[in-house]
Amino acid sequence: PDSSPIARSWNGRPTDDSSPAVQFMKSRIERLASRWTIAGERMRQKVALRTPSQLRVLLYPGVLAGAGGQRLARMVEKGGPLGELVQWADISASFFILGHNLIRAAPGRGSCPIQGPIPFDLIYTDYHGLAHLRGAMGLSFQHYQCRFRILDSFGTEPAFNVGEYARKRGYTTMWGSWGLQPLQYMTMFPHTPDNSFMGFVSEEVGDGEASRSQRKENIAVVYGKQAYMWQGKERYLEIISRELEIHGTVYQRDGQPSPLPSFVTNHGLLAQDQLQRLLRRAKLFVGLGFPYEGPAPLEAIALGCVFLQPRFHPPHSSVNNDFYKGKPTMREVHSQHPYTEDFIGKPYVWTVDMDNTTEVQEAVRAILSLKVDPFIPHEFTCEGMLERVYAYIAHQDFCSLSVPSWPSEDNLAMRLGPLGQSCVAVCRHTALRCEPALFHHLNHPTAFQKLGLTCASTEQEVDHLFPAYSPWGRRCSLQQDSLLYSCAGGHPSYRRLCPCRAFQPGQVALCPGCL
Ligand code: UDP
Repeated sequence: PDSSPIARSWNGRPTDDSSPAVQFMKSRIERLASRWTIAGERMRQKVALRTPSQLRVLLYPGVLAGAGGQRLARMVEKGGPLGELVQWADISASFFILGHNLIRAAPGRGSCPIQGPIPFDLIYTDYHGLAHLRGAMGLSFQHYQCRFRILDSFGTEPAFNVGEYARKRGYTTMWGSWGLQPLQYMTMFPHTPDNSFMGFVSEEVGDGEASRSQRKENIAVVYGKQAYMWQGKERYLEIISRELEIHGTVYQRDGQPSPLPSFVTNHGLLAQDQLQRLLRRAKLFVGLGFPYEGPAPLEAIALGCVFLQPRFHPPHSSVNNDFYKGKPTMREVHSQHPYTEDFIGKPYVWTVDMDNTTEVQEAVRAILSLKVDPFIPHEFTCEGMLERVYAYIAHQDFCSLSVPSWPSEDNLAMRLGPLGQSCVAVCRHTALRCEPALFHHLNHPTAFQKLGLTCASTEQEVDHLFPAYSPWGRRCSLQQDSLLYSCAGGHPSYRRLCPCRAFQPGQVALCPGCL
């Protein structure tokens, strides 16, 4: 109810409160209110003596604006993407709980909240909102751009971010070329470490509910809110249906016949709490290959389901796939939900070739012989999200002209990669994480010496793979443009110098002791 103080974090003007998108966010915040409050209490104990001053934060979700926003509002009721709304709701709750002063607005209603000297310390928006605000701000945009944070679900790699470089090297896309600091882009999952991982909260089974959740039925729920996502997947589903009753939550117009195979029980699109009730009863959550990298598989795992998903061979990327085409990333997506595969894995996540009948059948049987408890990575709990938001507010300063000082240099584990490998992969090999804010420590001739390399020549160049070493001619190359420091990217001619660091268990965004 609106009387709950946390509900106020998504109240106020001038966004359209009657829109289904805003209703979706409000009901999510209200449902999670008590969890947020408890997590806020724990957080206060952890950082007792270091409360940062209250900031004025503008939330400006471009996704809700104009014709696109109206389309989204209609889609919310018909199975359109909800992941971004989940994230906006959770960011707004996080700031509220951390005691900051939130102002929310959407483009196109009332006067632009940004005119004259800007009364905000931070501005959270997305690519749509960014374009709108730059138009409204004119020349002052450059002055204030360091205060922006861009919610960017799939991420923006440095090579796509620097306009001139992107044009010269063929990395131009619809979204990139804004020239912000790559860490100002905030992603839904920890994709490239070049961006900040913002994430969201996965709803979990409460203490009292744990025993109820264990009373699982022989049910599989299929991940896919719209009928087109199911096309061509009949055989895969039929194999699963031999062992489990198949349920769907697919949007269906009143009076229309079901577009799904006859063995499927369709509930129609469900409200989030009803979907959770269904997932609590289910043993399996079934990925069809699309949508990519959404929140739902994490929710299912947190409610005690096993997630079965297709492997992509070859991986999907902006080169071979319409969905990723035009996105400012070269990331190769090797399954429907790589985070769940790489960070969670078995027994919670099984990745299969969906066209291989035997593999699917064996996986389903193996899953049914397991007893799997609900699981949620710490980074997707309210407390985990509060830790990240707190740390970003306290330590990330993109307005300062000096080099980044967080994380501190003692976190640096310098690595020399093999030919062709990205720093993301190099650091991952030793269970570390590439940390772009540490690149400046190794962009120096002494770094090559420390790694035992002798340079026949040393030059400064503009290339997102640098600093790097080329064994042909023993060439050492340093980075000239700090905006191009990039964990992503590799080339057969270069061995990259990589700034790796350790991370907290279940919280990849933060190094140990880095809160
Ligand atoms: N969801 C829902 N009702 C449904 C199916 C999904 O409320 O019938 C919610 C789900 O709980 C999740 C959100 O929609 O939090 C986003 O789902 P998804 O992973 O499909 O990502 P999207 O593609 O929508 O961004």
